[in-house]
Amino acid sequence: MRGKEALVTCDNCGRKTPRSKAVADERSIRFGAEQKEEGARYMSRRKVYYCISCAKHKGIFERKKAQAARFGSRY
Ligand SMILES: [Zn+2]
Repeated sequence: MRGKEALVTCDNCGRKTPRSKAVADERSIRFGAEQKEEGARYMSRRKVYYCISCAKHKGIFERKKAQAARFGSRY
């Protein structure tokens, strides 16, 4: 069914974007920021979506590329 694609809301501008065109990003939310050692335990991840223009604007593509390069070489 074309045109019946699920829409996601851009976390930045609130625009509705087809999921296939949206850019998913994971935002880490840290609780109890004072304990740095145990910080990871309180990390929560929320998946957010951005429309293409916001993703570009926020440099998510660049970040994802950099992440891929980093993980790719290390692991
Ligand atoms: Zn947007």
